[in-house]
Amino acid sequence: MSQQGYVATPPYSQSQPGIGLSPPHYGHYGDPSHASSPQGMMKPAGPLGTAAPGMLLPPGPSPSVPHQFGQNGAHASGHPPQRFPGPPPVNNVASSYAPYQPSTQSSYPSPVSTSSVTQLGSQLSAMQINSYGSGMAPPNQGPPPRPPQPSILQPGSQVLPPPPTTLNGPGASSLLPPPTYRLDGHPGPAHPNAQYQPPPLPGQTLGTGYPPQQAASSGPQMAGAQLSYPGGFPGGPAQMAGPPPPQKKLDPDSIPSPIQVIENDRATRGGQVYATNIRGQIPPLVTTDYVIQDQGNASPRYIRCTTYCFPCTSDMAKQAQIPLAAVIKPFATIPSNETPLYLVNHGENGPVRCNRCKAYMCPFMQFIEGGRRYQCGFCSCVNDVPPFYFQHLDHIGRRLDHYEKPELSLGSYEYVATLDYCRNNKPPNPPAFIFMIDVSYSNIKNGLVKLICEELKTILEKLPKEEQEEMSAIRVGFITYNKVLHFFNVKSNLAQPQMMVVTDVGEVFVPLLDGFLVNYQESQSVIHNLLDQIPEMFADSNENETVFAPVIQAGMEALKAADCPGKLFIFHSSLPTAEAPGKLRNRDDKKLVNTDKEKILFQPQTNVYDSLAKDCVAHGCSVTLFLFPSQYVDMASLGLVPQLTGGTLYKYNNFQMHLDSQQFLNDLRNDIEKKIGFDAIMRVRTSTGFRATDFFGGILMNNTTDIEMAAIDCDKAVTVEFKHDDKLSEDTGALIQCAVLYTTISGQRRLRIHNLGLNCSSQLADLYKSCETDALINFFAKSAFKAVLHQPLKVIREILVNQTAHMLACYRKNCASPSAASQLILPDSMKVLPVYMNCLLKNCVLLSRPEISTDERAFQRQLVMSMGVADSQLFFYPQLLPIHTLDVKSTMLPAAVRCSESRLSEDGIFLLANGLNMFLWLGVSSPPELIQGIFNVPSFAHINTDMTLLPEVGSPHSQQLRMIMGIIQQKRPYSMKLTIVKQREQPEMVFRQFLVEDKGLYGGSSYVDFLCCVHKEICQLLN
Ligand SMILES: [Zn+2]
Repeated sequence: MSQQGYVATPPYSQSQPGIGLSPPHYGHYGDPSHASSPQGMMKPAGPLGTAAPGMLLPPGPSPSVPHQFGQNGAHASGHPPQRFPGPPPVNNVASSYAPYQPSTQSSYPSPVSTSSVTQLGSQLSAMQINSYGSGMAPPNQGPPPRPPQPSILQPGSQVLPPPPTTLNGPGASSLLPPPTYRLDGHPGPAHPNAQYQPPPLPGQTLGTGYPPQQAASSGPQMAGAQLSYPGGFPGGPAQMAGPPPPQKKLDPDSIPSPIQVIENDRATRGGQVYATNIRGQIPPLVTTDYVIQDQGNASPRYIRCTTYCFPCTSDMAKQAQIPLAAVIKPFATIPSNETPLYLVNHGENGPVRCNRCKAYMCPFMQFIEGGRRYQCGFCSCVNDVPPFYFQHLDHIGRRLDHYEKPELSLGSYEYVATLDYCRNNKPPNPPAFIFMIDVSYSNIKNGLVKLICEELKTILEKLPKEEQEEMSAIRVGFITYNKVLHFFNVKSNLAQPQMMVVTDVGEVFVPLLDGFLVNYQESQSVIHNLLDQIPEMFADSNENETVFAPVIQAGMEALKAADCPGKLFIFHSSLPTAEAPGKLRNRDDKKLVNTDKEKILFQPQTNVYDSLAKDCVAHGCSVTLFLFPSQYVDMASLGLVPQLTGGTLYKYNNFQMHLDSQQFLNDLRNDIEKKIGFDAIMRVRTSTGFRATDFFGGILMNNTTDIEMAAIDCDKAVTVEFKHDDKLSEDTGALIQCAVLYTTISGQRRLRIHNLGLNCSSQLADLYKSCETDALINFFAKSAFKAVLHQPLKVIREILVNQTAHMLACYRKNCASPSAASQLILPDSMKVLPVYMNCLLKNCVLLSRPEISTDERAFQRQLVMSMGVADSQLFFYPQLLPIHTLDVKSTMLPAAVRCSESRLSEDGIFLLANGLNMFLWLGVSSPPELIQGIFNVPSFAHINTDMTLLPEVGSPHSQQLRMIMGIIQQKRPYSMKLTIVKQREQPEMVFRQFLVEDKGLYGGSSYVDFLCCVHKEICQLLN
């Protein structure tokens, strides 16, 4: 079955075992000067192994740091269990504080039981799903029952021996209550014809898609679609969470619904406290709201995995082809009801690290010999405890200060870094922000320059600062440009700002140092003066041509000269055609679409931007780009530096002041205030037996292990793929430590550590039970979008389909109960994998269609590369909310409906959001009172669709709808532009592209068709 071998790093990836890093198209960034500069994290031997003689006490907390671990040292003895102020205690306090004890923690059954499987009859007309409820145990109530493994009936030659029953580790059986339900339901007798032969339905031709689905409420009854499974369910209703659904005919409701999965998870896990004390625990879905309490593993806000149980051997991994990956968002925003990260300060001793593998002190280190030594959980090396760090052990071998030290008891925390971790062993300077405004003719004419300058006056008041500080330490500078660059001296003692023009864009130099980067508060009047003058200064300019690479170069050189990291905010509009490095021509060629050369459209046009990105990362210069294109601007080239420097790309097509300024200003405000770390280097360490081999995100790598980022903000995620290099043990599990060395907004060098323990199993069923589809899709999207640079899209699409089928076929063959070959069986954890995978395949990046703008495809590709799991989930499967059923008294969001035209109704109003766009769709028969309430006009016909903000009508409907839109917008990195869409009017075409369960406007299968296609593949694999 797995003759192709393991392709979880799909064949399109250039990853080489043993080499690890796949060389990106953009070449190899071997810069020896930089590779050696940020020290510490990759130093062969740390300076921290021994402490100065006599230094036996931990250094006192530094008064200047926030979130100082206040209780440190406050209690010498008598340790109350709860030392960290945190969210409300969980139900089971005793167990929730159970320490990490590698040798005694025998079993880590997942709290999310994947009790049900979804089964689909291959006969389309009889498509039926047996969804047996989740059977999920609430978190923190001990291990849930383990369902028995389904046995295998498939008599194929490659069938594995039936897996033994369900044990995950030695001694686990005694801890597990007897199963109370079956893992999967059994279909009735096999359909006589095991081949995939969907009979055509009335009014449709086989294989060409399906007629529009009927309204959900109508319950379509199709002739000739009688169900052919008279056998019922051997599992029996008594063993299931609920009675089997009544047999239905081809009903869209009977194929697995993402909405149902989301709602089920919300119902069972929403609003609860999720304590991270159990290794391998599967967190609630990203779409569920809950409170996280760190008790030894990193919060899922920081790390989510494709599976929380790794297969013990690489053979198993190859067999299942499930990618083993973690999506890491090291600076994720933590809600106010969760505890922010503690800061550990060991003074000049610095962090305690394993001598061999350099892992940082964490809950996975086990203290021995009365506390004098500790064994590293990652490499098993036994290390001496530095004298300053010594502490006695209690009767269970735990340090007496276990709960006083975040690094001993928490999954995530920060260290103050010593000078060894700084460039040139010098403390860094605080970062700077440089604002760089394209003042070419069109930007002046459409008022954009004036808008930006006006906004900067207020926005600069909100520069990020440390909580305890009066004012922001971030310095600011200003540059304007068209085909030349204008630097401004805004030194506080000047009466007027001074402008210096650099015309030599071939080799940009910084004409001034003193007065360019200034403290905003000190230079406020000069800066305001400048911002008032800029729009007038260039009011008469007819200059249409712009440069781009020299702009980035100038900003980077200015930061370099000031010896500080920083961020460039570039406001740009056009293809840079002026004679200069990085000059671009219009090379948009739709004839390349759907050919082997299509990848060229996603590659930068010149290698200038590659080397610029490399220089920027080497100097801690992050680039955020606000683009206002009115035609092709070569996004693939312009977006490269922002993408690789951890910056953000914003794009406003055909910017119109009255329609788009709000979206742009929201983005700008949000971006400036983002939590961000600069000049970062990240390292992912693993316990023995596996390692990180491939990396995706806004990152650069000069070697196979160090992930370099000019900056990383709260919305950026790095996806890391793991491979086996040995056997993993069920006892010790698979441990991951992610360490990010970075510079704070006030110029402090810190280490942020996230630790996560996963389970390991020699049972494939455990692997499948512990999967998370949202993270899988994040991984697949990034690996496919990376591959787009090198491979024909057709190949990538095929690989995605094949791998989907392969994962499901392996489950079917090895884990599922016996059933007819004609049945499609999906593991519960992957119930919605096909629909999400189809959404990925239909995304404009992978869909080779000339109708879609090349820039838009390149833009979306770059965005997805650094998305976290929650953002990619919404991006690929938009949220569609019925607005006409709103209960105006409720503050709850209405339950979403599936993204299909069949869910819309003529008398309804629906809101759709995907993280970039928002649509309000109005049915032709929308209730007039609702229209009056929302738009303050008497009828559908009176609605003016030329608006991007809803009027503030003051009616309950208006207030509630705008509140809902605010909630949807809240946690999203991009401000979503609202489009009003009337049913049966032209703009509806755009809206329909987001109804992702339907057949795509420009191709792309419907969900039902795709499911059939996957099933066919599975049947072939099983035969
Ligand atoms: Zn080690």
